[in-house]
Amino acid sequence: MTDTTPRTAFPTGTIIGYPRIGRRRELKKAVESFWAGTTTADELESTAAELRSATRERLAALGLGRDDASIPESFSYYDQMLDAAVTVGAVPSRFASRVDAAGVVDLAGYFTIARGEGENAPLEMTKWFDSNYHYLVPEIGPETTFRLASDRIVREFEEAKAAGFVTRPVIVGPVTFLALSKASDEAPEGFHPLSRLDDLLPVYAELLTRLAAAGAPWVQLDEPALVSESIDEERSALLSAVATAYAVLGAVASRPALFVAAPYGSLGDALPVLAATPIEALSLDLVRGSVPTGLDPATASALAGKTVVGGVIDGHNIWRGDLEAAFGRLTELLALSPEVAVSTSTSLLHVPHDVDDEPALADQLKGWLAFADQKVTQVATLARGLVDGHEAIQGELSDASAALADRAAAPGVRDAAVRARTAALTAQDFSRGDYTDRLAAQDAALGLPFLPTTTIGSFPQTSDIRRARAQLAKGLLSEAEYLARMQAEIKRVVDLQEEIGIDVIVHGEPERNDMVQYFAENLDGFAVTQNGWVQSYGSRCTRPSILWGDVSRPAPITVDWSSFTQSLTAKPVKGMLTGPVTILAWSFVRDDQPLGDTARQVALALRDEIADLEAAGIRIVQVDEPALRELLPLKKADHAEYLDWSVGSFRLSTAGVRDETQIHTHLCYSEFGVVIDAIRNLDADVTSIEAARSRMEVVHDIQTSGFEHGIGPGVYDIHSPRVPSVAEVTELLETALSAIPGRQLWVNPDCGLKTRGYDETVASLRNIIEATRAVRAKAGVTA
Ligand code: GLN
Ligand code: ZN
Repeated sequence: MTDTTPRTAFPTGTIIGYPRIGRRRELKKAVESFWAGTTTADELESTAAELRSATRERLAALGLGRDDASIPESFSYYDQMLDAAVTVGAVPSRFASRVDAAGVVDLAGYFTIARGEGENAPLEMTKWFDSNYHYLVPEIGPETTFRLASDRIVREFEEAKAAGFVTRPVIVGPVTFLALSKASDEAPEGFHPLSRLDDLLPVYAELLTRLAAAGAPWVQLDEPALVSESIDEERSALLSAVATAYAVLGAVASRPALFVAAPYGSLGDALPVLAATPIEALSLDLVRGSVPTGLDPATASALAGKTVVGGVIDGHNIWRGDLEAAFGRLTELLALSPEVAVSTSTSLLHVPHDVDDEPALADQLKGWLAFADQKVTQVATLARGLVDGHEAIQGELSDASAALADRAAAPGVRDAAVRARTAALTAQDFSRGDYTDRLAAQDAALGLPFLPTTTIGSFPQTSDIRRARAQLAKGLLSEAEYLARMQAEIKRVVDLQEEIGIDVIVHGEPERNDMVQYFAENLDGFAVTQNGWVQSYGSRCTRPSILWGDVSRPAPITVDWSSFTQSLTAKPVKGMLTGPVTILAWSFVRDDQPLGDTARQVALALRDEIADLEAAGIRIVQVDEPALRELLPLKKADHAEYLDWSVGSFRLSTAGVRDETQIHTHLCYSEFGVVIDAIRNLDADVTSIEAARSRMEVVHDIQTSGFEHGIGPGVYDIHSPRVPSVAEVTELLETALSAIPGRQLWVNPDCGLKTRGYDETVASLRNIIEATRAVRAKAGVTA
């Protein structure tokens, strides 16, 4: 600090961020109707302003202060990384027509960058740390002209002020912003966005000055990149960027106090670096990380002069948790600094709004849960404890402990039969026989042609299918009528595949709303919510199920659907299941035992399902694991343990089959190189992955890795309505064949077809088959 103005103290209780989509997904609806052209930008802006206002009022009612900067301004129309990009003027040149002379992008332009337009691809989307939230990846090059191009952050602070609030503006910090960006198309080979830090900082400095002028006492800069070891930057470069960035921002003459938030894990060696900068407050994720000990004297004395914000309330899960232990961790922080505050470990973006909004959930279960609003109340309670002492909150702490004890003892949380089964597992349960023997048995049993063709499982979900499912849920359609409609749909999809000439048939998954929720609804140990929506990306939300108890399968789930499908065709039908890792990743999972224990329970339920499919005459089963990469821990030291249980649970689910039964898996991405060993260890007979968008780049990774099992690199990018031409698919197949032996190669789209329309799907599949036939003919083999 260069001035001597006394700082406003950091609020004793706060949250890192709050859901932005609205209790009833109001923002989703408003944004989508703006996209559809039914409402204007002004109307969208006023809905957004109402939502922000409702959020502030709600947070104040739940116990955050109205005028002490404890309420974060964490709204976004689409994504916080995109917000940061348009704030600093980092718009890729292909969207230049959307930027005015002052560098400003209007609301329509903002969404265009997020969603693409004609030939101009949108910003790439990728997972935000180890969450199921996806952010847009900014593109930075030597040509990027940084300037303060949006004052939306300042305006939102002023909007709050006009309503009687003093809130805390939030923006992605400069280091995380650049570290998560990628090099633009114009950038030379080997360019690092982080190399533009010095040019970016003045823009942040100007923003700070503007916020100070508007009267903001504090600003929050999110720097989660500092906790991750999976960033494409040398750690030393990242650390020196932190030192530079916060030295520069700290020296801004007139600025708010700086609060650097570091969610998703421990700061590790970034802590001393950050501590040495002139920031006024920093948060520690004490759910994933622990209270740092053994600090060097310089760091210890620097921290003692800052507010240390303990992220003790889990922002990433929905359990009420152990409030007494959380309070204990906060008091430990007092050893680091006399100024301690309480917060959530991460933004509450990852959890639904309100447990009280779930009338259909059992009351006992509800007593164990805390969604965003309940977590805010917990923060307020702990803040009161910090000020008034343990006594003052004894009642709340005891209630939380009682709920925890109730949960531990509740029927279903521990099921003796399930536990006896997992306890009795031996190494044999995790492995199949020799691959060469399996290959021979499968070749004989299946009689598939050279370059077998298949799809990933789902076919387009028409409005008829969605309506039928909704009507069944509301009791407007009888079970029998629903079954008849779904069977008619399956027959249509099977006939279509036969007519097009696809070799391995799928049923199209019409009965599934969601690939995880469908299984959650049919397994014991899970509960599903009504309003528990969580933003996945942009306007897209998911409703994760709650995995609260020991998991078992009361009855076969997919067997009737698959047998019915097989009865319609002589070709092999592929049974379709979601794997244990993905079921865990896309649910809210119990936190009272290691994930690996839970995964093995899910795996055993799936293993039984696969055994029943096999007994019913299904010769191929696909177990989807698109989340395998996503759950990979941010810290390298945690990788081995994760890979052990994740790969192990997949193997446990699939290893019970005969040699001639073919196991497929599907992964949604092409970062094959990163997890190649894990993929090999899954020991699936066939693995399909995404490859079309990257023009088969992945085949070289596959080649160099010596992967020997069946592999289906996607030849059709299903994220776009574009129909790939025969020539294009032929070329992709030839590229694949130049690197991978033909006997290993499968032909399939990148992913499921459920989000596509029928016309483009049929045209694309026809082209895929025609291309495959041409390539087969050229290779001298015909089907
Ligand atoms: N079998 C699923 C489908 O085809 C797979 C979806 C996914 O990978 N996300 O839709
Ligand atoms: Zn996929």
